[in-house]
Amino acid sequence: MGDDRADRIAEFIEPLRVEPGSTVRLAEDFDPGFTGGIREKKDGVELLRSGIEQLADYQRRLAAQDTYGVLLCLQALDAGGKDGTIRHVMSGVNPQGVRVVGFKVPSNEELDHDYLWRYARNLPSRGEIGIFNRSHYEEVLVVRVHPDNLRRQKLPDAARGPDVWQRRYREINDWERYLTDNGFRFVKIFLNLSKEEQRTRFLKRIDVPERNWKFSSADVRERAYWDDYQQAFSQMLSATSTQWAPWYVVPADHKWFARVCTAAVLVHTLMAINPQYPQVSEESRRQLAEVREELEAEAPAGAPPDPYAAEKKDNGTKIEKSKRSKKNKKNKKDAKRKEDAKHKKTSS
Ligand code: ATP
Ligand code: MG
Repeated sequence: MGDDRADRIAEFIEPLRVEPGSTVRLAEDFDPGFTGGIREKKDGVELLRSGIEQLADYQRRLAAQDTYGVLLCLQALDAGGKDGTIRHVMSGVNPQGVRVVGFKVPSNEELDHDYLWRYARNLPSRGEIGIFNRSHYEEVLVVRVHPDNLRRQKLPDAARGPDVWQRRYREINDWERYLTDNGFRFVKIFLNLSKEEQRTRFLKRIDVPERNWKFSSADVRERAYWDDYQQAFSQMLSATSTQWAPWYVVPADHKWFARVCTAAVLVHTLMAINPQYPQVSEESRRQLAEVREELEAEAPAGAPPDPYAAEKKDNGTKIEKSKRSKKNKKNKKDAKRKEDAKHKKTSS
């Protein structure tokens, strides 16, 4: 059953995965309107609900095991739906086990360090799920599309030659490999929006007063660089989808589908980690039994020695009784059906 589910999720996300070593041409290879054969939003919502439940369970186990950390990197163009995806996908997860960090234009302090510095200081710890709302990939996207950003990074001349992007791809791959080898898993999602859907979403931000605050004229100016971004994304996906940290291109024109896919990729990664609750040693179990005895001895007059065990036993008996009564009813029904059938036979 568990394996069945794992197989179905792997099959579902396979078309979104960027095969390591392949050359991506976004416009030709990935359709932003794809919905994976799910016709109705309500079916998608149902799928998301089950994904959220699984995530919550895996996150508890990940935190208890305290060995692996997971980092979800979300990249998208403006209005791609990063914020909504985080809000929906993580809605069932214990906030204590999750850390969301957004990356904006670098501060002076950040520019005074190497370009991966600010990402490295915000990595999740073991047992945590970290979310990067924009990530180290901005360093080969916005920084590439607007070379002014590179100039501001105070690099020595030798470090900003024409090979700078190829070098950054290699450095990013190496950094991710190092982290993967040491117990951290990357989930890299690109929310792939069409130009027309972005136009519609910008207009909605203008038309609906409650959304006006989300509108930024800078976002619209950035839209003029659409083709440059498509090219930068295509090259980045081709160069940095690796066996240890593959990219998933998630169709983002339908928000509900983008959320289902993101949840599925996260669950897939957590299933592969398969975190387990720590086993308690024989010695600890013996100590627990001793402490139980001490606590039971402190029960006030009239109170059950262990109220939790008593309640559990009571519930167990109730469930047992209701099961028995259901079984009796079913047996009676079956007997009556047999009796009726016999009657029919003899009277015909
Ligand atoms: P929203 O969806 O709410 O608009 P956002 O992620 O776009 O969220 P903003 O504050 O609007 O957040 O924009 C952050 C800006 O920071 C983006 O335009 C992004 O390109 C820019 N940015 C991120 N990282 C870098 C970087 N390393 N160098 C230069 N600019 C960067
Ligand atoms: Mg923005």
